[in-house]
Amino acid sequence: MLTSSFDMMEQEAQPFNNDIIRTEKLGGGEKTTTAGGGGGARRPRRSRVKGLGSRSSTSSGAQPPTVGVSPTPAVVAKEGVVSSNFREQDAAYFHAYSHLGVHEEMIKDRARTDAYRDAICFHADAIRDKVVVDVGCGTGILSIFCAFAGARKVYAMEASSISVQAREVVKANSLSDIITVVHGRVEEVEIEEEEGVDVIVSEWMGYALLYESMFSSVINARDRWLKPGGLMLPSYATLYMAPITNSLKYAQSIDFWRNVYGIDMSAMLPLAKQISFEEPCIETIMAENVLSWPVVIKHIDCNKVTMRELETVYSEFCVSSMMKASLHGFALWFDVSFGPRSSAAMAAATTNNPTKETATADMQSDSSSMDSSTTLSGGGGDEARGFKVSIRQKEKNPRDECIILSTAPEDPPTHWAQTILYVYDPIEVEQDQLISGSIALSKSRENPRFLNIHLEYTSGNRHCVKESVMQ
Ligand code: SAH
Repeated sequence: MLTSSFDMMEQEAQPFNNDIIRTEKLGGGEKTTTAGGGGGARRPRRSRVKGLGSRSSTSSGAQPPTVGVSPTPAVVAKEGVVSSNFREQDAAYFHAYSHLGVHEEMIKDRARTDAYRDAICFHADAIRDKVVVDVGCGTGILSIFCAFAGARKVYAMEASSISVQAREVVKANSLSDIITVVHGRVEEVEIEEEEGVDVIVSEWMGYALLYESMFSSVINARDRWLKPGGLMLPSYATLYMAPITNSLKYAQSIDFWRNVYGIDMSAMLPLAKQISFEEPCIETIMAENVLSWPVVIKHIDCNKVTMRELETVYSEFCVSSMMKASLHGFALWFDVSFGPRSSAAMAAATTNNPTKETATADMQSDSSSMDSSTTLSGGGGDEARGFKVSIRQKEKNPRDECIILSTAPEDPPTHWAQTILYVYDPIEVEQDQLISGSIALSKSRENPRFLNIHLEYTSGNRHCVKESVMQ
């Protein structure tokens, strides 16, 4: 496991009582490496599949490029130095994605897969007869949805060895004439489309949106290939944060040690806090756990955002607690939206002129093989094509209609759950008490796929700083 340059430390200051900042190190002042961290709650996707983060990994996951791949260039780190670790770290990352279970978990995440399928259907008018790039196709599922929606050509790019199976899946569905599976890192492949491509689709979101840094690869593809005005799916992404209370978690993992079979084991408390709260936890919480309206930490326009803008995301916040409660931490979550659709597509959608019955049938049977709860019904517009879309109307204006994939606590759970930054010592807050501070999320220099998180928060007379690394 990579050791972080940001050692676990929570500084607690009481600036209103005195000017001395008291620095409290847990675990008797020594940092103890915790296996798994985050209370061991991290789901396997993208992080905990063996290999990722290990410097000694000799993964076989990233096989030599086979199709349309240019010679591997030297990888230059931000500081201008060739990073000897980078290639190894990336190999570990892609090895994680060679495991079928990771893809199974993602595909079985109905909120996720339905949102993409619906969005592709929703934008069928912009996809039909067009060229699409799928950045990180995995099993090929999104590429196939695009083919069903009428794409003329889909480049399905995948750097992990799951591309082998993706190619077989494409073949078995008789789509090899439309979909070309390209094995290799998007950054290193070339395509034969002189005029560029019309659509880029990608499921790139990591925990807390930014973990994994996969969006950099999407930006790379966008800047090299997307035609001006081309469609990005998703089109926008927003990262939110709110303070939370979670007494159950605190009772189970911390207070438990106060009385174990009648024995006072409070001596375990510093270690228990370190093990449970040092790293961000991936957990599903309920809307009732959330103490205030969320704040927007970052809003991303996928057509415009630059890599540099995502190196460090910083936001200040000041919220008011909606109730008297113990503040146990802060939750991060995100949503992405696909649209709004163009006015041309809006007009086309109302003409009720289905052109892809075959695709429709395929997509229906596809979804019914999992669960029919969101499958198709009659009606006008897209439903008449057999594309039942779950449109969340943001505003009354139909031009603002768009499909949203949300990972918020009040929405159906997804495999991303929420990312929780627990504080080591809860703060008792009254109703309407202000909670303010700042958060910075930045790419780790040791491994750009990791996320350094610097959180400062103040409430009442408590001021704390928490550094953590999501690895
Ligand atoms: N599109 C699939 C898989 C999404 S997971 C689905 O929706 O089910 C993200 C995928 O992107 C992983 O399989 C990962 O290996 C791949 N990936 C990430 N970065 C990549 C890059 N730079 N080049 C090629 N593939 C990449």
